[in-house]
Amino acid sequence: MSDTQVSPVASKGLDNPLLKPWQTPFETPPFDEIKPEHFMPAFEQAFADHAGEIAAIVNDVSAPDFANTITALERSGKLLSKVAAVFYDLVSAHSNPAILEIDKDVSLRMARHWNPIMMNAVLFGRIAALRDNAASLHLKPEQARLLERTYTRFHRAGAGLDETAKARMAEINERLAHLGTTFSHHLLGDEQEWSMELGDDDLDGLSDSFVASARAAAEERGKPGKAIVTTSRSSMEPFLQSSTRRDLREKAYKAFIQRGNNGNANDNNTTIVEILKLREESAKLLGYPTFAAYRLEDSMAKTPEAVRNLLERVWKPARARALADRDALQELIAEEGGNFKLAAWDWRHYAEKLRQRRANFDDAAIKPYLTLDNMIAAQFDVATKLFGITFHERKDVPVWHPDVRVWEVKDAKGEHKALFYGDYFARSSKRSGAWMTSLRDQQKLDGDTAPLVLNICNFAKGTNGQPSLLSPDDARTLFHEFGHGLHGMLSNVTYPSLSGTSVFTDFVELPSQLYEHWQERPEVLQQFAKHYQTGEALPDDLLKRFIAARKFNQGFATVEFVSSALIDLEFHTQPASASADVAAFEKKELEKIGMPEEIALRHRPTQFGHIFSGDHYASGYYSYMWSEVMDADAFGAFEEAGDIFDAATAKRLHDDIYSSGGSVDPEAAYVAFRGRAPEADALLRRRGLLDAA
Ligand SMILES: [Zn+2]
Repeated sequence: MSDTQVSPVASKGLDNPLLKPWQTPFETPPFDEIKPEHFMPAFEQAFADHAGEIAAIVNDVSAPDFANTITALERSGKLLSKVAAVFYDLVSAHSNPAILEIDKDVSLRMARHWNPIMMNAVLFGRIAALRDNAASLHLKPEQARLLERTYTRFHRAGAGLDETAKARMAEINERLAHLGTTFSHHLLGDEQEWSMELGDDDLDGLSDSFVASARAAAEERGKPGKAIVTTSRSSMEPFLQSSTRRDLREKAYKAFIQRGNNGNANDNNTTIVEILKLREESAKLLGYPTFAAYRLEDSMAKTPEAVRNLLERVWKPARARALADRDALQELIAEEGGNFKLAAWDWRHYAEKLRQRRANFDDAAIKPYLTLDNMIAAQFDVATKLFGITFHERKDVPVWHPDVRVWEVKDAKGEHKALFYGDYFARSSKRSGAWMTSLRDQQKLDGDTAPLVLNICNFAKGTNGQPSLLSPDDARTLFHEFGHGLHGMLSNVTYPSLSGTSVFTDFVELPSQLYEHWQERPEVLQQFAKHYQTGEALPDDLLKRFIAARKFNQGFATVEFVSSALIDLEFHTQPASASADVAAFEKKELEKIGMPEEIALRHRPTQFGHIFSGDHYASGYYSYMWSEVMDADAFGAFEEAGDIFDAATAKRLHDDIYSSGGSVDPEAAYVAFRGRAPEADALLRRRGLLDAA
């Protein structure tokens, strides 16, 4: 669909639900009325409105002041945010060929729309003049922070470059937008195309709940009566853990790690090469030696060296632990009379066996206690205990798929605070992974705007009356995304661009990872982990073994994560020419760090959506670990208080971390909460790696 096809009637919005006021409860998007053909006209209208608002700021003859420049910028682009939020929710959580086709146009049109705004010399001149005179403006702290962030954003987008460089930057941005979209469409394509059918003879070792979800997955893909394994982590991980069929594990594993690397129409190799080349060129235009140097300047870490220091500090003990575990797994194979060398598709299977032996615990034993509904109740209850908010399910809010559930969130006084949407089950119209996003952000610029916050996951659905049962990892993911969700829902700032999760990438995982700590606490599990058939509470003994087992296989988990973070950093610090052959580059880098050959990267390059679907996590994948240093240390504040719901600590957590969004410097926010900077040992201790350091 091109812009010439936009009819003038449609763009007036007479029959376009995206352009009419929303008459739904809480003015939520009327998903039941929105059709793919509504998007392009709505985007065109939104681009035009926004361009007009920007022109008014640029053409303002009065001298720049905070209100006519910064506040005016914050007020601009409302329709665009509204339409884009709905569109990208559908692109990632419930797409179809029509939506994906429009996505290609939208990503290009977005780049074309934003380039002239972010590189507008007059606009940047007004912002820079305000920044130069900031001291005389008598700004409130949030306003001062906003001015600084706005200046930085424009400066880093190239607003200060000469015209030739700007023109080239604009071309690069357009091309990168296209390539990012291509990358994610390819990945989705390979994920939709592959599945492995399990016959009656192929089920050995698999739990009833796994088989039930494999049948649900088959039904969702139009193969009723069959059972399939898919490349979704909730399908792949338990299959690799439990299946006793080495041949099938090998087949599934290879498909999993080859996504985007199959030499077919979905192959991502050339896309990656071009992305890296253009990122390097844009960083150089902006005066940085590498893309990583450019990217990290605007982060807590500040430099590639700081990132490398942290990753290397963790890498050594993690690798040592993984190698020791590898030898133990090989022994286990020998003991069982196997005479083969442990391969990558065996690791999870034998690690699970070893864990059962050492900790006398397996994931399948705890799953029946972790129903999705009970874990949702648990995540809500923890938020009520910490922050006083309550959750009330609503059935009258339109959603994009019948599986989506909605809760109204009320504050301690019973007043409306937010809406929370949960979309929990895997389906082929959804991209892989789990994420939080929003349809509307909190702000107070023109009266209170309550946020609409989303959690999207890919859990296996239950069938035949059996509820959806979560693995311990799934339960952790649920809490993780809900932690991000709270960051959005508890946000209490004035300006939209500082709202909720609008913080540095290496700070944004703090609220989410911190929230995971409550999920594995006895106080929470004893109350909420109940057997789905008998209603029996999680037995004490199983609980103890579960908690002990959490530290198991951390060498593997840390190695697959840190290696991915390191290769992300290498991609963006070495010259782009070094990675012209992506597979060779991966191999060389993994050899350099001594990667155990039985472990693959958590995200191999051609499926590394974090860093190639867009640039949000590019040279930023380390952020999870940077945040983990803080979250491990932050939870210590509750432990030191002797109560995981300690009211005074929870209040500081609310005020300094969860509600302040991007309105304060993250380091200052952390220190305000904890009274000091974080200590890295807490991370190694939590992963059980301190003694290996
Ligand atoms: Zn996260």
